[in-house]
Amino acid sequence: MRNIYLLIILMFVAGCNDKDERPNILFIMSDDHAYQAISAYSDKLIQTPNIDRIANEGILFTNACVTNSICAPSRAVILTGKHSHLNGKIDNHAKFDTTQVTFPQLFQKAGYQTAMYGKLHFGNNPKGVDDFLILPGQGSYINPLFLGKKKDTLITGYVTDIITDLTLDWFKTKRDESKPFMMMYLHKAPHRPWWPSTEKFAEFYEMEFPEPETLFDDYSNRGSAAKSAEMNILTHMRYSHDSKVRPETIKEMGKVEPEIVYIRGDGMQLRENPNDFHGPYTKRANDEQKAKYELVLDKINNDFRENWPGMNDEEKMKWKFQRYMQDYLGTISSIDDNVGRVLDYLEESGLDKNTIVVYTSDQGFYLGEHGWYDKRFIYDESFKTPLLIKWPNKIKPGITNDEMVQNLDFAQTFLEAAMIDVPEDMQGESLLPLLKGENDKWTREEVYYHYYEYPSVHMAKRHYGIVTKEYKLVRFYYDVDEWELYDRLNDPNEMKNVYSDPAYSDVVEDLTLRLKNLRIKYKDSEELDKKFLY
Ligand code: CA
Repeated sequence: MRNIYLLIILMFVAGCNDKDERPNILFIMSDDHAYQAISAYSDKLIQTPNIDRIANEGILFTNACVTNSICAPSRAVILTGKHSHLNGKIDNHAKFDTTQVTFPQLFQKAGYQTAMYGKLHFGNNPKGVDDFLILPGQGSYINPLFLGKKKDTLITGYVTDIITDLTLDWFKTKRDESKPFMMMYLHKAPHRPWWPSTEKFAEFYEMEFPEPETLFDDYSNRGSAAKSAEMNILTHMRYSHDSKVRPETIKEMGKVEPEIVYIRGDGMQLRENPNDFHGPYTKRANDEQKAKYELVLDKINNDFRENWPGMNDEEKMKWKFQRYMQDYLGTISSIDDNVGRVLDYLEESGLDKNTIVVYTSDQGFYLGEHGWYDKRFIYDESFKTPLLIKWPNKIKPGITNDEMVQNLDFAQTFLEAAMIDVPEDMQGESLLPLLKGENDKWTREEVYYHYYEYPSVHMAKRHYGIVTKEYKLVRFYYDVDEWELYDRLNDPNEMKNVYSDPAYSDVVEDLTLRLKNLRIKYKDSEELDKKFLY
């Protein structure tokens, strides 16, 4: 009913002013963008002046986190406003039930013009968007194919530039000025395999980056999950697929990289082929692009040929870390340039004045912390995600907030900002009080996390847990039953599990009860845990 009244009021308002004053929403999301690689959070690795503009003109969340740190499940949580165990997309392989309500559908119904460009990674076309061009699955960095409403389109160029061109083209030629818009501008970068543009590949290859404190973590004082995960830069990152040493160079050096096959409990096989070197490159680049990439590849391969045979493990780790950062950060630099193009357009067109701009990632990522790449774990670098929001005249410029906010909250925040009714079964909370600086209206002190994809790629064990600003309590299960507790304030690098330390027995008791209650609150249970086993 409220919807109808609201619509009548809005029509009346629209009739009087001939203009719908509800705010526009520009939702910018990248894929696997670590907050450590945004200078508004830390400028140790890279400068991102354009992404930083959003924080400078708005709010920076320092404890924003996800409910399940993996790509497609995070997207399902964002679209439905429900935890994985209720929306059903517990891992990258689970089917998404497309009969579920997603927030873009609600915007479309409420009279917004809606669009989506870039990476959805969902296995089906988006609902609730008037216009879209999305990458099939992971998509390609170079000369990518896009799936459209009517036809598929192959576009020459670098994916981050193209997604931006499509978004800007929509603003300039397709926007209906009588309606507010909800635009989802979704980057594929910086997802593995990290292929920068030809220019950034050359530029970043010449750079050297500082190592994180925990690059040589030996996982002592932690449980079996950290020890058995397969995401260590030295041990599991591939020289060819990731560091971009040509397969023939590796063969010439007498090194053999084995194929890795993961077999899940339900028999599904996942293969990682070490010779899938330049998948996105050799299969797609044209001669002009190849020539530019080859110049840098020659340097990488010559360096490997000359130096790798004499390296010990520590030196190999350092070498691979630099190669990783050069390529990963090269892709980030393109995102930053392109976000700048879109922000510039909003300003030039005057649209910025009534537009909420959000920058986030589908989760965080390890940039060598604990010796890792990839994500999945509740440990900070993958649990937390960047979140920067600007909304002129509503959010005070340059504020920072450390409340425990989640990707679960996005749908409700956007709906409430647009004055659209929120479905009762959404499980997040609107961030509007925090955006408006009414922090006393925010009462949440803890968040719930649940990761499922095991046994599978990277072998991060299943776990669920509770996180507050001070502590993190986690239970790993499936083939183990292990608990871990971290003191976030005194041990920010999470190097010591203090679950069995008598000094923390009160904390363990308190958080164990609160975790139990959180599982009830969010309707998760042991029965569901069993249902999702494979
Ligand atoms: Ca991701």
